Amino acid sequence: MVHVSGGPVDYSVPDDLTIPQFFLDSHHPLRPTRKPGIPWLIEDATARPIDLEQLRTRTFGLANALQARFGIKENDVVVLFSPNHVDYPPAIWATHRLGGIVSGANPGYTADEVLHQIQTTGATLVITHPVSLRTAVAAARQAGIPDARVVVFDEVPGSAHVSVEALVREGLRMDRCFLERKLKPGEAKSKIAFLNFSSGTTGKPKAVAISHYAPIVNVIQMALHNKINRDDCAWEDRRYRPGDVATGILPLYHIYGLIVSLHFLIFCGVTLVVVPRFNFTDFLQSISRHKITLLMLVPPQIVLLCKHPATKEYDLSGIRYMICGAAPLSADLMNQIAEVLPNAQIGQGYGMTEASASISMFSTDAKIGVPGGAGRLLPGVVARVVKADGTLAGFNEPGELQVKIPSQALGYWNNEEATRETFLDGWLRTGDEVTINEDKELFIVDRLKEIMKVKGFQVAPAELEACLLNMPEVADACVVAVPHDYSGEVPLAFVVLHAHVAKRVAEHPGEAEKVKAAIIKFVADNKVAYKHLAGGVEFIDAIPKNPSGKLLRRVLRDRVLEMRAKPKAKL
Ligand code: AMP
Repeated sequence: MVHVSGGPVDYSVPDDLTIPQFFLDSHHPLRPTRKPGIPWLIEDATARPIDLEQLRTRTFGLANALQARFGIKENDVVVLFSPNHVDYPPAIWATHRLGGIVSGANPGYTADEVLHQIQTTGATLVITHPVSLRTAVAAARQAGIPDARVVVFDEVPGSAHVSVEALVREGLRMDRCFLERKLKPGEAKSKIAFLNFSSGTTGKPKAVAISHYAPIVNVIQMALHNKINRDDCAWEDRRYRPGDVATGILPLYHIYGLIVSLHFLIFCGVTLVVVPRFNFTDFLQSISRHKITLLMLVPPQIVLLCKHPATKEYDLSGIRYMICGAAPLSADLMNQIAEVLPNAQIGQGYGMTEASASISMFSTDAKIGVPGGAGRLLPGVVARVVKADGTLAGFNEPGELQVKIPSQALGYWNNEEATRETFLDGWLRTGDEVTINEDKELFIVDRLKEIMKVKGFQVAPAELEACLLNMPEVADACVVAVPHDYSGEVPLAFVVLHAHVAKRVAEHPGEAEKVKAAIIKFVADNKVAYKHLAGGVEFIDAIPKNPSGKLLRRVLRDRVLEMRAKPKAKL
């Protein structure tokens, strides 16, 4: 095997449209016609339907007010620091209509984490949610953003912060005061739409610059792969049909939720039920209340569907399709979920932020994807598998997956060095060890890059190590992933204590547990929940390093795996 191709993208892909122009204003031959009256979005809690006209109107009103009040213009960055909300998509598209850039942040972030995102992107406006308002204000103040530029999706009684609702009304009352950003032919390929965060193959989280073209072409690739709107695919075999209702539980600040769940599904004519945060029983109720037919999930949600007793209380026979992505789904779990969802086509997709977003999805050839397989390469993807010695692997031989794709991100924002490492000459390094078979099916063998995936979210060891080094007791640290039944992986910290603390620990029984608890609390106080040290803390005399000082993380990771396999042994 030299290169494996997922086939051509033999349909037109506009390169002169912004994302809202493509998704709200234009037609594409692969795009099915929606029946009149079928909403685009539904608010989960209230069942409020929102149709295209409302989305367009709200997007316009918000864009008008963002321009009039805040002067949002070309390349201004707006941070969306919020759980999913029905006005989240209009907030994205309003920013785009003004030529601005959107950067989504996890609403569970601490003020320091949001501050990092605001400072890295140079954001000048924060749109948040009542639940994250206090943190947003704290971070914005530290970044020098005035309180008046922190906007909330829903009105907060007694608060001086203007709401998106009020801005939409204000924008609709005023005369149009902005000129919609139009693109020259080809410009969609370089004009930045999103700055999403990812650590890439090494180091701390970085802002990935994603063009307007990348999500548009990726949606077309997914549409081609899934035979959307194609006469050669019988109606009963079609995966995404106009009139289907999908759960919009995936967070919109992550690439999977943003591109696959939101933009791809609305392209397909599917109605998305917008769910702010995941709670298992609410999720089951939402499936039954909204007659959900499509599920896009991450592995921990599948673990719950398979193992939680509440699942049996609900009728899931209406689910026709379920895809899992963002982290590995074992063959075992795949077989179990196939029993829980007997009428569903089931399989995996694989992608990454830098690929904005999908690289493979399970094939349409069979009802159930290949167990353990991460899907078949999408049209437009050319893949090569590079072995450790730099030579190219053959079929079924492991090595690093590198891909040439039309949806590739532009690089890491203001970080040329990291860009050079990951974005090679036309090839994107995924940092994943894979095999590919003759059928173009991808199997993820391991992760070569440093990140771990906790519940589908990236955790960068380098970020946690930097945090630990701020603790006065800690002299050195190395964070590794340990396998976890529910979360997939969780972080464990190896810590070298300063000599005086190590002496205290050695001399006083019970001191070790106290120091470990303090370290766990320190991380918990400074980082969002999924980055907490759920794998625990282990003391070590020295972190293994190579002669140039690089952490030998793998040595410790292998050690932990070995020791965890023998539960009674002491590390
Ligand atoms: P992110 O940029 O947060 O989407 O993370 C991308 C990474 O998640 C990939 O490089 C993989 O390491 C991992 N990943 C995504 N999908 C899968 C999958 N289906 N199986 C295994 N790992 C996956």
